[in-house]
Amino acid sequence: MSSTDIIYPVKVPWDSQSVPHVSIEVNQSCNIECDGCYKNKFAFSKPLELIKREIDLAVSLRQLESVVVVGGEPTLYPHLTDVICYIADKGILPTLLTNGTLLTPKRLREYKDAGLYSVRIHIDKHQRRHSDPRRMATTESELNPLRKYYVDMCRNEGVEPAFIFTLYRDNLDDYLDVVEFCYREEIRDILVPLFAPSVNIETEHLAEEPFHALHAENIYEFMARKQGILPAFYLPSQSNSKKLRWLIYYTVVTVDAHGKRETFSFDPRNQTALTVISRMSRIHHSRHNFSRLPEQSEVTRMLGLYARLSCESVDRGKVHAFLETVRRNGNVRFFRQVFQEFPQLSKDGHYDPCLHCPDATVRNGHLVSLCVVDHVEPLPITEKPVCGDSEQMITKIKGERN
Ligand code: SF4
Repeated sequence: MSSTDIIYPVKVPWDSQSVPHVSIEVNQSCNIECDGCYKNKFAFSKPLELIKREIDLAVSLRQLESVVVVGGEPTLYPHLTDVICYIADKGILPTLLTNGTLLTPKRLREYKDAGLYSVRIHIDKHQRRHSDPRRMATTESELNPLRKYYVDMCRNEGVEPAFIFTLYRDNLDDYLDVVEFCYREEIRDILVPLFAPSVNIETEHLAEEPFHALHAENIYEFMARKQGILPAFYLPSQSNSKKLRWLIYYTVVTVDAHGKRETFSFDPRNQTALTVISRMSRIHHSRHNFSRLPEQSEVTRMLGLYARLSCESVDRGKVHAFLETVRRNGNVRFFRQVFQEFPQLSKDGHYDPCLHCPDATVRNGHLVSLCVVDHVEPLPITEKPVCGDSEQMITKIKGERN
């Protein structure tokens, strides 16, 4: 697919200061194995004081709406509650990116009380989840009961559940089953990194079909063909405004009394409507939205605005009819799908990050792209020391479960 075949979505509206998000790493240890992992893993935990300094630095550089706490596996970090609390006390939404294996209702409650906004759980079939009974999945649908287990746990504790799902060539078609699951379970947000060979992948695997890189253009074509939708927004690379890196799809969902679902997806040809909508949060909250998804009344307002500003030739009739259905049904929600293509890292350490890299993390006193940070700015530790914190945490959590 060439750039002339693409109906370009609206570019995300932030600049280097107003970009609303960063990632903060708390450790580099993990208790499962993922084929697509781009992190070096060893038993390294950051001192809490260093993490607080990193958060302060990120706050001084960006107008943050949210911070995602990542690892390794962050639930192995013994001071995770303090980190969540430190972020939330600054009026920023803390979210947690976790494989979920160590989550318990008690721990979620503790994180929620500390100010946690949402949990993004990473589940896909290219993981070896040693502690999980349903770990030997061959399709993504087989993992939906496991996803459901976490949805229920999060909802019971009042935390917004979201998912992350790495897409490979051999689970691309399964993706639609996961989308169906999200619709059914009223999940509002799914993040889909596209597998890219990284320096951590065994080179002999790269010749195998599932490990051939997927690109944003592949997804653009796939989503248009399979779901009939186009991305509303995109993030290009830093050096090339035509290079698709993130594709962001916004679908509005409403369900009638008999469970019949109707959806409407924002169309990139309605540039004016989308540009106004994307700037609304800056006007109302003085910063751009990233993690926070609008509640029902806000979605209805956005839909009304989109209907007023959309062009006749695209979908004005369709959006007005959909608004009528929403009024009849009395319910509406957003469903956001974000696909991310990673930059390629050359042997000499050169890479072209996504524009203003919203997932950047703090390493050695400055912001670096999370996806390549271990290669361009390695931590001083290179050997595998004895795992102290992580083993203690696993023992503690097992004790809590028994
Ligand atoms: S360059 Fe930044 S935004 Fe892009 S994939 Fe890497 S960490 Fe994420």
